[in-house]
Amino acid sequence: MTSAIPRRKTRQVRIGHVWVGSDHPVMVQSMTNTDTADAEGTARQIFELWRAGSEVVRITVNSAEAAAAVPAIWEKLDNWGCRVPLVGDFHFNGDRLLRDYPECAQVLAKYRINPGNVGKGAKRDEKFAFMVEKAIEYQKAVRIGVNWGSLDQAIAARMMDENSRLSQPLPAEAVMREALIVSALESAEQAQSWGLSADQILLSCKVSHVQDLIAVYRDLAGRCDYPLHLGLTEAGMGSKGIVASSAALGVLLQEGIGDTIRISLTPEPGGDRTKEVVVAQELLQTMGLRSFVPLVTACPGCGRTTSTVFQELAQDIQNFLRVQMPIWRTEYPGVEDMKVAVMGCVVNGPGESKLADIGISLPGTGEVPVCPVYIDGEKDVTLKGGRVAEEFQAIVENYVRTRYGEGGSKRREPVQKVIPIVGV
Ligand code: SF4
Repeated sequence: MTSAIPRRKTRQVRIGHVWVGSDHPVMVQSMTNTDTADAEGTARQIFELWRAGSEVVRITVNSAEAAAAVPAIWEKLDNWGCRVPLVGDFHFNGDRLLRDYPECAQVLAKYRINPGNVGKGAKRDEKFAFMVEKAIEYQKAVRIGVNWGSLDQAIAARMMDENSRLSQPLPAEAVMREALIVSALESAEQAQSWGLSADQILLSCKVSHVQDLIAVYRDLAGRCDYPLHLGLTEAGMGSKGIVASSAALGVLLQEGIGDTIRISLTPEPGGDRTKEVVVAQELLQTMGLRSFVPLVTACPGCGRTTSTVFQELAQDIQNFLRVQMPIWRTEYPGVEDMKVAVMGCVVNGPGESKLADIGISLPGTGEVPVCPVYIDGEKDVTLKGGRVAEEFQAIVENYVRTRYGEGGSKRREPVQKVIPIVGV
């Protein structure tokens, strides 16, 4: 799918084998929540995030044990055929960890540095400079990631002071937003003055409120040409986190702002970490920016659908498509653009089904218990009886094979070579 939304022009930055910037699709990132020192557990979660579609995965590197585990994590992933670029999240002791664990510094594809969490005064500059020096030595990308909750206090105080001397001081929130941007830009400038190439730098300025995030990024986007990583920090749990992130990121992406995204969802107890990847992909796909998994159009149901058959079929098909994608992506390029419709009754069912590549219209209450299936806009077959779900799934599989397989009319060559998945 080619997006019609013009992107803000940026530099292109390489993160391992993945390129980020306006010449490349908006990239999906995620972050683990395992203890990095647990190499096995962390590698497994990275693998799951990658299998769900995360193109870069960030891990916290907060202790000697964590830094020591990074090469082992990388090796496990490599053995499993997973070569997703890893980003190390460094804070107060990042300089020491990068110095003491050169193998960790080597295998990471990018260092995330929060300039507000490096130290204070001259010590801060010294530590930050050392981390930048390591990025230059190992030729790694650096994300200068400023966060509302850990804003560089020296910058905040300086700007508050300057503001108070103005004849018409700005509101405190406006000053804080400006302080975030200044912290990111000044840190990037400093890094460049120490020899880091501008083509190795990405920026982020994360805040936790939708309107603040939009205001900050709009401003930041106009003041530099570094690629920007978008994310609403502390977005929250469940629907609240999804809605807040989608609202904020949706506005910015629509304006062509943002080169990588992460949806920072607070996991529900026992919840699946890969949900943040699924939401990020769905956001980009519903906006028409990228395609990842065939989309299922399903009506919301109403009083005309008295059974759960329709909801179950829609759910089953969506799950089936997502589970198939790791294999289909390599065998059937273009399948990610396929549109499937599962509709609840005759009111909108045939119409939506005809608009999709493949669609099924189930019978509503009082309708004849048959399910017409439409393929490429034409009625193909009518299903009935107790095996409608299985039969429809088989029709979808056959459609994928014939349309997106070798010689298929809807097949298209993949944009990037996809690394095959090996079992884990
Ligand atoms: S398609 Fe039928 S079942 Fe679905 S919402 Fe519309 S009227 Fe209701």
